[in-house]
Amino acid sequence: MSNGDDFLRTIAYGETALDFIKTNSLPAYPRNYELWYSYASGFNQSLNRAINKIIEKNGKITADETQKIYNRFLSPNRLGERIDDVGEQISIEVKNLLASIDSGKVATDEYGGRLRTALESLQEVNTREELEQVIRGLINATTATAETNGDLKNQLISARKQISTLRDSLEAIRYESLTDELTTLNNRKHFDQSLEKELQEAANTGRPVALLLTDIDHFKQFNDNYGHQTGDQVLRLVALSVKQNINSHDIACRYGGEEFGIIMPHCTLEKAKEVAERIRRTVTSKELVKRSTGENLGRITISIGVAISHPDDTLHSIVSRADDALYTAKNAGRNLVRSEKDIDRGPAKNHVA
Ligand code: GH3
Ligand code: MG
Ligand code: MG
Repeated sequence: MSNGDDFLRTIAYGETALDFIKTNSLPAYPRNYELWYSYASGFNQSLNRAINKIIEKNGKITADETQKIYNRFLSPNRLGERIDDVGEQISIEVKNLLASIDSGKVATDEYGGRLRTALESLQEVNTREELEQVIRGLINATTATAETNGDLKNQLISARKQISTLRDSLEAIRYESLTDELTTLNNRKHFDQSLEKELQEAANTGRPVALLLTDIDHFKQFNDNYGHQTGDQVLRLVALSVKQNINSHDIACRYGGEEFGIIMPHCTLEKAKEVAERIRRTVTSKELVKRSTGENLGRITISIGVAISHPDDTLHSIVSRADDALYTAKNAGRNLVRSEKDIDRGPAKNHVA
């Protein structure tokens, strides 16, 4: 994307954001500006839906409501705060159980001990994994005690259910923190974590991992012609084409704006190229029709770069080769698959991914 295009597009978002702030008589704090800038760009659809719902209902949105929406969708602490919530609810549940034990209703010293340890651990929990471990311990202890205490079975069963529900909330938080909302593929964070892990696995087993990087051709032009909303539908369509052509153990991620990264464990370069070729063909085979108007938007194409892991690879080195291969595909005319074996060794290099 050229700087000039970026300039015009982002200034337009900025101006629209300020218009929203003025129309709703809100203070132009950086937070509000960030919220309305996101709204104007339309990239976070849940955020837009939540705001639209309030405006449809009340005709406008208040400072309080914008604060809530910010906390829910944009605050950098939002997932951490929700993990704290789950931890807090579990503490309450454990305290209730301890109260029962102390009043002599549960005759199991060992269980009381395990609950007290869990409660202490909850004070020190910082991550989702640590919280999950505490929950697992609680469920095991509760199940065992329910089996040996006939009278209190019901109370314990209900406690176990409650704790399991909280574990599900934690799972939902985990899903959200690793998923790209627009395409429902894995997000960049998941990409980085998975590729690190698979490179390690490849080094341990000697079975290489392949990496595909895809980039939509002339997507900027497409957005300019048909608008960002329609562009977003195209991103979903490309994501679907990726999903249709990979195996369950392959890991498809949204790497950046219009770029996807597909990690293929235990693979060969040849096999990865075949999959890339199938994805490319699936994308071009689809004729795009605008749902609202029935307008035919033609077809889009993608370019793909393929790399295979080397024994001494780092995340950076394998991504860089896939990126070079992708650039080679762009350079050779687009709508092509190129692998690290085809990389242009010319002096001018202009990364796309
Ligand atoms: P090339 O064939 O060289 O890749 O050209 P291009 O126009 O696709 O490449 P460029 O990097 O110049 O533009 C990428 C475009 O992707 C610009 C940006 O508007 C668009 N884009 C990035 N993220 C999103 C998104 O989430 N939604 C939509 N609709 N467009 C996006
Ligand atoms: Mg592109
Ligand atoms: Mg790009």
